[in-house]
Amino acid sequence: MFTPVTDKVYMVAPADHGNFPSSVSFYIDDKIPTLIDTPLTAWSEAFKANMGDHPVKRILNTHYHRDHTGCNHLFPEAEVYAHPADIPAMTSQDEFIRYYGFDKYADQTLTNEILSWLKWQPSPVAHQLEDGQIIKLGEVELTVMHTPGHTPGHCVFYWEEQGILFSGDIDLTSFGPWYGNINSDITQLITSIERMISLNPRLICSGHKGVINHNVSGRLQKYLHRLLEKEDRILQALQQPLTLDELVRRKLVYGKWGKAESQYYYFEKLSVMVHLRRLMELNLVEERHGKYRTINNTACQCAQI
Ligand SMILES: [Zn+2]
Ligand SMILES: [Zn+2]
Repeated sequence: MFTPVTDKVYMVAPADHGNFPSSVSFYIDDKIPTLIDTPLTAWSEAFKANMGDHPVKRILNTHYHRDHTGCNHLFPEAEVYAHPADIPAMTSQDEFIRYYGFDKYADQTLTNEILSWLKWQPSPVAHQLEDGQIIKLGEVELTVMHTPGHTPGHCVFYWEEQGILFSGDIDLTSFGPWYGNINSDITQLITSIERMISLNPRLICSGHKGVINHNVSGRLQKYLHRLLEKEDRILQALQQPLTLDELVRRKLVYGKWGKAESQYYYFEKLSVMVHLRRLMELNLVEERHGKYRTINNTACQCAQI
């Protein structure tokens, strides 16, 4: 599908939905024809068909994940922009593995399994994004906002004149924010979402939900609330001391796991670890003899929102 959002912006999406591992890209038809993100390499043929012969001179990647960079190679003439904190994982497979935490927390079988369907390949980056930078494409002028947390270099792009925010993987899915990489950061993610709420955008172009033009601020608040609910569930569970494995098996982040259980276990574990790191920094949880538990009577975080 190649669907108009405005006379300059088009949504490039699979026919069915943008749920991961599918994703939604946006094409800006201006003096510098530009793509915001490209899908997984496995989607190459469908993406080429959707794009037709629209030229692409520039690619703005919201972050390094393969469902946002996997078809960059289809446009060798295009100059790729990305944030320096994510560039290592786009240009080196070792760094990509390190960003996912596979080198420390996954065995070789699981690493190979995930790498084979993410189909990592290098994506050279020509220009670095930085917070506050204005990218002029012609009529469309985008302000770069560095919104870390999902990944260290995640960025969103704001077309202020039209109130349109290209939000990448701060995507407003009902799952809530995702933070299953070892260098994901929940405190940063909360700040990033709050910054987006303060913009009060008219419309969000999301990397997995497409165009959202109704109750945008309310949707962002709800999305943030999903994350805090999960943190509360973890704090509730840790009223009694639990090992990391015991906590992971409660499925408090994913709720339920799919068929590829070892992959779900892994990303549940990493997400829980990212929560625990923050909760220990906040002095709400402590670890003793390999078990985690809350310190004193920790208050519900949700009540603060
Ligand atoms: Zn992502
Ligand atoms: Zn994504």
